[in-house]
Amino acid sequence: MEKDIPFLQQILPKKFSAAYMKGRSNYACIYRLLQSDHQPILDGVGEIDHFKEVREWSHETQTGDRAELTYLPENLPFWNRINAKSETCIGQKCADYEPCFITRMRARAETADIVIVNHHLFCADLNVRGNQFGKVIPDYGAVIFDEAHLIEDIAADYFGFQVSNFQLEELARDASVLPISDAVLATQIIRSASRINGFAEQFWVRFKQARDADGRFRCLRMHFSHRGIDGEDEALARLETEADVFSEKLPEADSVVRRVRQTRFDLKFIVEQADRNFVYWLERRGRGIFLQASPVDVSSLLQEKLFDKVETCILTSATLSTNGSFNFIRDRLGLDKVRPKRLWPNRRLTTKNRRSFICQKRCPTRERLSLRKWRRPRSSR
Ligand code: SF4
Repeated sequence: MEKDIPFLQQILPKKFSAAYMKGRSNYACIYRLLQSDHQPILDGVGEIDHFKEVREWSHETQTGDRAELTYLPENLPFWNRINAKSETCIGQKCADYEPCFITRMRARAETADIVIVNHHLFCADLNVRGNQFGKVIPDYGAVIFDEAHLIEDIAADYFGFQVSNFQLEELARDASVLPISDAVLATQIIRSASRINGFAEQFWVRFKQARDADGRFRCLRMHFSHRGIDGEDEALARLETEADVFSEKLPEADSVVRRVRQTRFDLKFIVEQADRNFVYWLERRGRGIFLQASPVDVSSLLQEKLFDKVETCILTSATLSTNGSFNFIRDRLGLDKVRPKRLWPNRRLTTKNRRSFICQKRCPTRERLSLRKWRRPRSSR
């Protein structure tokens, strides 16, 4: 972004503007930061100084991007409780919607000719398009994927389902601090939240015992044949009913209900393992246990959500071909159905097995692109 965009702006005949977007969890959430005045979000006194620095920085920063905090440790335990991730965002009902860093980032991107995002943000956005709380990237008419051989794996992560112990803990914590003035109803919700934590302990303990090292493991239906799962679902259902009473008036309650529904759906999907197009697995990472369901084949999803909707898609990578053919990648990404007009092996590359692959619906020819005119001057090579 710092080198290539200024270079292209300098040499291309047509002037253009560009914006860079990262995943939402890289940005601070102003609303959650303000809420932290009334809610305990730190795990210990050792975090107090770091938190104060983040608070001060949040008043000064123009972007809210976590990357600016280079003077703080990379792993700030409380960051997950103050970042702008879509699960906890209350959208346009938020009192801080206008100054929100995500709103401002989106506004910058809306006016740019080119928006640069990584594969993760692109796939995350693709998965939640149509959801008013999740969509981040402005609508686009053309996409260029660099390193396109990575799309399949990353899309599988984002088109799948996941439930983790962190997610349930966070949900219970957010529910127990809902700003409800009726003391009786607030106490009921706090009790339901602690029931979720109680059942969650039973639920996760077996996984912890069975898999005591970090790694990825197969997850079978029989692994869920213990009572914890029913109790957990029942506790979540109770919280959903109780919080739903306040959904209309309280965007925070609405957000909790939305998350409970999604969690119950995802958990059921993973536990039942009824869809044979998915692979079910468990990951242990430090204190975290993540139950996952990932689609085995993302081709139809990519076709439906991307290739059928976007006028022009260009995929480029040095490693898209297999044995000199693009059939494998076309199959895996669902490109066999869109009939690309051109497969473009780049013979200029010196490594024998390297190819670039361009799938296009409407794309100027190489001749019309006048590549020679845009060739990089020797001094900047
Ligand atoms: S709109 Fe969402 S992300 Fe932005 S400040 Fe409000 S809650 Fe946070």
